[in-house]
Amino acid sequence: MTALREILLRRIAATGPIGIADYMTECLLHPVHGYYTTRDPLGTGGDFTTAPEISQMFGELIGLALAQAWLEQGAPAPFALVEPGPGRGTLMADMLRATARVPGFHAALQLHLVEASPTLRAAQAERLPDATWHDRLDQIPDDLPLFLVANEFFDALPIRQFIRDGSGWRERVIGRDGDRLVFGLTAPAPLTQLEHRLADTVDGDMVEISPALPALVGEIGARIAENGGAALIVDYGGRGTTGDSFQAVQGHRKVDPLDAPGAADLTAHVDFDALARAAAPAACAGPVPQGVFLERLGITPRAQALAARLEGAALDRHVAAHRRLTHPEEMGDLFKVAALHPCNAPPPPGFET
Ligand code: SAH
Repeated sequence: MTALREILLRRIAATGPIGIADYMTECLLHPVHGYYTTRDPLGTGGDFTTAPEISQMFGELIGLALAQAWLEQGAPAPFALVEPGPGRGTLMADMLRATARVPGFHAALQLHLVEASPTLRAAQAERLPDATWHDRLDQIPDDLPLFLVANEFFDALPIRQFIRDGSGWRERVIGRDGDRLVFGLTAPAPLTQLEHRLADTVDGDMVEISPALPALVGEIGARIAENGGAALIVDYGGRGTTGDSFQAVQGHRKVDPLDAPGAADLTAHVDFDALARAAAPAACAGPVPQGVFLERLGITPRAQALAARLEGAALDRHVAAHRRLTHPEEMGDLFKVAALHPCNAPPPPGFET
């Protein structure tokens, strides 16, 4: 029994079932027992791995794409280079190495990271000593052009799940059965925020919403429209949501999301339609499948150049990493990339039609 399970069981006994969003927030960010608060979950000894941890090529190409967008907007100085949820700082470190020779880019940038986990902040500080850390995105100076990257950040945002019942919706909640956490459903009720889903769902269908996404993406879009900039948002998901995408991963394997609160990573698919709707007054390009996006940015020639310097097991690992990032049966299709940009500036490279 995890300590957090005890806390949640007591809370449910006292005040009744809790929503999935509440459960996710407690499991991921509880100040003492939260998953991200207490550990570095990335890498071989950890629970899951991410694109920047798979290959340096991911960060290099993303860095050059953002630098190109910066050049196309007249190389504004100073500007804010921002990453929410930077994990170990690997993506940003690769971006900075790749852009070191873009004239003026490093001299103009102010590096701002948004990170909830003290453990991961410490890991980031080792690689990115010049960064400034914030708890929330809206704490970043709002008078600068904003060039932002987010990889697997939005999938960690809490979701709510609803099952359609006639023209109303039952919310999926978490209650207790003795010492076990169990799913339950509220009574059906109409919901204005899900009215638009009545057209594309039938009785019994499940839909998900991310309550924090509109405000976060709206904040990014407003700043980009006002001050210039661009955002590259990479995550797994698609257009709209259908079905249950709430999942838990521990030791690189899927586990029951209610089994080990605080000890497993919890995520859900990102709804790129909701993201595009929230981007205004900035424009939103994509989503483009990650494999297509990386190919357009030139991952194959970059992979070949790196391969020329490798042999044996290192070469095998490099070839496997290229495939893992781009192949449709690996991360290439499941992961998508969207870009926010000012309506009067072109999208970053990789979004041409
Ligand atoms: N982008 C990294 C890490 C992805 S894991 C990579 O690609 O490797 C998710 C990251 O988001 C972690 O750094 C986690 O601590 C952070 N995070 C999750 N929820 C957050 C929140 N509400 N506010 C700030 N950071 C959060």
